[in-house]
Amino acid sequence: MDLSTKIEETRKRFAQELSAASTQEERDRVKNRYLSGPKCVLRGLFGELGRLSPAQKADGGRALNALKGELEEACRALAQQDRREKEHKLPPDPSLPGRLPPLGRRHPVTQTMDDVIEVFARLGFDVVHGPEIENERNNFQALNIPLDHPSRDAFDTFYLEPPWLLRSHTSPVQVRTMLRRKPPIRVIAPGKVFRPDKADASHLPMFHQVEGLAVGEGVTFAQLKGVLLLFAESMFGVGTQVRFRPSFFPFTEPSAEVDISCFICGAKGCSACKGSGWMEILGAGMVHPHVFEAVGLDPGRFTGFAFGMGIERICMLRHGVADIRYFLENHLRFLEQF
Ligand SMILES: [Zn+2]
Repeated sequence: MDLSTKIEETRKRFAQELSAASTQEERDRVKNRYLSGPKCVLRGLFGELGRLSPAQKADGGRALNALKGELEEACRALAQQDRREKEHKLPPDPSLPGRLPPLGRRHPVTQTMDDVIEVFARLGFDVVHGPEIENERNNFQALNIPLDHPSRDAFDTFYLEPPWLLRSHTSPVQVRTMLRRKPPIRVIAPGKVFRPDKADASHLPMFHQVEGLAVGEGVTFAQLKGVLLLFAESMFGVGTQVRFRPSFFPFTEPSAEVDISCFICGAKGCSACKGSGWMEILGAGMVHPHVFEAVGLDPGRFTGFAFGMGIERICMLRHGVADIRYFLENHLRFLEQF
């Protein structure tokens, strides 16, 4: 029998014996018999190379090395398959950590709203709510905005069946509160408001405001200033300055636009504050005597201050959000940053 025939026989026998072996132990025995130690089958075949001519020796050596590689590979493949089957049969391991379901979080606008509420709650303001569908009287007339007054254009809204409309600001909650409670009053009213604005980087037809109202005997503009300074420092950091600029609102007199010193550049001037060092954040003023008359309070006895701010705007300032529409697009990659 020549060497190539012996190699062929060995290949067949090995395949038969290996497939007949049913346990890893038996397979190891087959492997050892053919591949391991000085007395193994393969070593015997290599020993026969010595009796061949130099030319045959080279061919025989190549053939034997190929056979050796094949046999080893067959053993490796079987062992691997065996391992996989074993893993498959493993019972569930209750000590493995569970898979967490993805957790939701508060919307950035809600977070800012909650933070604003918390600051004023610490200052003794109650949270009150009013309906989003409001009547014309509470939204306009009782706030000293007569039907044909030009200032009404600034507060235009979506009209439903008369006298109903979607409130254009949270100020009607002032009216509702003063009709229901007697002074002293200290409330904030958070909620949604509606304006027929086209959506762009800084406008949405629906957004959020927080309204504040304090009414009593001897409530002063100085107290308004103190409250808003405390708010600005709590919200934007100690050392934040406030600046009051004269302005006009129908329901307050005097009225002011309130700016805070830019907390990004420290009031030196940057792109966020358009180089001015100041950021406009809210409107405020002393409650107009006409508003007190509309709710049956004596303007000779009571005074009060009111303020209102857009929550989206504050949220954008705090986090450097460039476009108000991001808040409504529901992209998780945006929302997960907050
Ligand atoms: Zn700045």
